[in-house]
Parts: sequence; C-alpha cells; structure tokens
Amino acid sequence: MSMRLSRSIVGEAEARAVSRVLLEDGYLGMGAEVCRFEEDVARYLGVKPQQIVTVNTGTAALHLAVEAVAAQCHVKGRQPEVLVPSLTFVASFQAITAAGCVPVACDVLPDTGTLDIEDAAHRLTPATIAVMPVDYASNPWHIDDVLAFAHKNGLRVVEDAAHAFGCRSLGRKVGSFGDVVCFSFDGIKNITCGEGGCLVSFDAEVARMASDARLLSVENDAQKRFAGTRSWDPDVKRQGWRYHMSNLMAAIGRVQLGRLEKEFIPSRRRLAAIYEQRLAGVNGLALLKTDPEDFVVRHIMPVRILRGRKDAVKKVLATRDIPTGVHYKPNHLLSYFKKSARSPLPATEQLYNELVTLPLHPGLIPQDVEEVCAAVRAALD
Ligand SMILES: *Cc1c(COP(=O)(O)O)cnc(C)c1O
Repeated sequence: MSMRLSRSIVGEAEARAVSRVLLEDGYLGMGAEVCRFEEDVARYLGVKPQQIVTVNTGTAALHLAVEAVAAQCHVKGRQPEVLVPSLTFVASFQAITAAGCVPVACDVLPDTGTLDIEDAAHRLTPATIAVMPVDYASNPWHIDDVLAFAHKNGLRVVEDAAHAFGCRSLGRKVGSFGDVVCFSFDGIKNITCGEGGCLVSFDAEVARMASDARLLSVENDAQKRFAGTRSWDPDVKRQGWRYHMSNLMAAIGRVQLGRLEKEFIPSRRRLAAIYEQRLAGVNGLALLKTDPEDFVVRHIMPVRILRGRKDAVKKVLATRDIPTGVHYKPNHLLSYFKKSARSPLPATEQLYNELVTLPLHPGLIPQDVEEVCAAVRAALD
C-alpha cells in the first residue's frame, strides 16, 4: 500500500462499540452514549461534564462558540469583529461569518505559524469582540500571552485547538484552561468520532447557550435526552442549529479516547521526533519552533523549505510516491475572505511559499519516516 499523508486509525474495538449501539442500545441519535463521551472527555481534561458540549464537527463547535460569546458583547452600529490568523483551515473563517461576525485576518510568527499578537494588536477596532488563536500544527505557542492580550483589551478568546487534542502548555492540557476551547474529532485528527468535535467552556452561560443551540435552541433538550426523556412542551427563544453528536459517533470517540495516551500520542511523538532529528540542520530547510516546556502531539508535520525550493522538493517526493500537503492556503487569498486582510500579511505569505506538509499518522512506521527524510535531504542536496 502506498504511503498516506494522514488517515484514521480505527479497528475492531471501534467496530464493536458501534455494533453495540446498533444492536443493543438501538438508539442511534443523541442519547446516553453521547452523555458518557462528554463525561469521558471532561475526566480526561480535568473539567466538569457541563463544560463540554459535543457537536457533529469542529467547525460547528467554533460556530457555536463565536455565536455564544458574541451574544454577550454589545457593539453599536457595526458587525462584531474577530481577530484570527490567516494561516488556518477555512473552517475557522467560515465559523466566524456563520456567527454573523467579521473575520479580521492577522499575520503569524514565521518561526511557529501561530498568531502574531503584535500584529493582532494593530488590527483592533472598537468592534473587535474576540480573538481566535489557532494551535497551528498542534503548537499551543505562548497561549498565555494571547489570553493576557485578550484580557487587557476586553476580548473573548475562542481557541481553535482542532490540531491540539492531547497537547499540553506548560504542563496543563489544552482544553483544561482558557475561555472557550474548540476541538475537532474529524477523521484525521488526533482522535476521531468519524466526524465530530466539541467545545470546552470556562463560562457557564456560553456552555448553556451552545448546548441548547446545537439542538435547535430547544431549552435544556440535551439534559433531557441524557436523562432518557424529551422536550414535548419546549420553548425556543433564539436561532438554533442541528449540530448535535450521535450515539454512533460517541461510541467511536470513547474507544479512541481510550487509545490516545497509550497508543496515538506515543506514536505521533515518536514519528515527529524522527523528523526533527533527521531534518534538523539540513541546509535549505527549517523546522517549526516549539517551546520545550510544551508537550506537542503533532497532528500534521509541516516544514519550511527555504529559498524557493518548495516545488522542487514536492516534485522529488512525488516521484518517490511520497504524498505532501499544504496547510494552508491563507484565507485572505480566498475570494470569499479577500477583504479580511486590511493591510499586508507578509509572514503569512512567506510561510505559504515555504510550507510543505510531510506524512504523519500512527499508521506509519519509523522506517517510513526515515524514507521521507532521506528523500527530502536528497531533494535539497
Ligand atoms: C479540522 C479543523 C477544523 C474544523 O474541524 P472539522 O471537524 O473538520 O469541522 C477547524 N480548524 C482547524 C485548524 C482544523 O484543522
């Protein structure tokens, strides 16, 4: 089988969990299994189950998070604005506009690909309500500085931690602190539910609003479903969405969560360490920087190919059947989000010209990564 850039790692255990829901429970929608998954995630992160709101995608988590924080902010006569690095999956930007807000594209630090706070500060306006840092390539780089910047400027923080489930910043798990933190459990993330995601809220009102909004804003519908009942005489006071997670997805997620610490994290870290060892100091290549105090579980392995050699390297890898990816085409270069760049984003555009994502997932063996590194080195020779 040829090498893959990324893939789901699922097997017998996930299949058994799904068939248990199908054959024994028989209720496929949002019920007891989702409740148990939320409890499991809460226990893993060391937070309360009421702080966890599971949904059907990471994008939905971001949408509900932005919508809930925006509901608490009052901006007169203008659409509320959210600061967000341009170097992210388009999901971050779409979630902001879905919530009726305006994404303001910010530059990134060239060494890490994460938000450049100084640049973000220059983009503040009276309409800015929130900042959405992205843990690019699973790097929670200086997240406390982002929280302090937000605090100082009266902003909410919706962290796009789609890459960062299982990571730690200064010993604290990503998702165990902050304001609102959003994870993705799509097919190729650090754990998967098939598709799926969740938000973790440190604001009870945001959690309550998002919990209702995922079920068409039917008040307390999630709590009733978890108790095995339904709302037959509900009230609805605002716009809501059909964003809830199903028991089938939760069954997969619970097994995946159980495999994370013993299997997925060591595997991703072992493979990333080989990349870092073999590619450190290679002429014409730069690794993205991480803080040695942080615990990074790489979801993707982007590296910088310097001096205009990116396409040449990609071509050599392709001839050896090694797939590469691009994370990401900056959002301000997409037609729909062109206006999000109010002034130039030089570091973002420079990185876009350099970044090549190399294969990384727990289905690879060390020998695969050695082969990729040898090919990269040969291409740069
Ligand atoms: C995967 C991802 C998302 C969205 O998650 P989905 O579950 O795919 O909707 C958001 N932001 C980033 C940076 C991602 O990688």
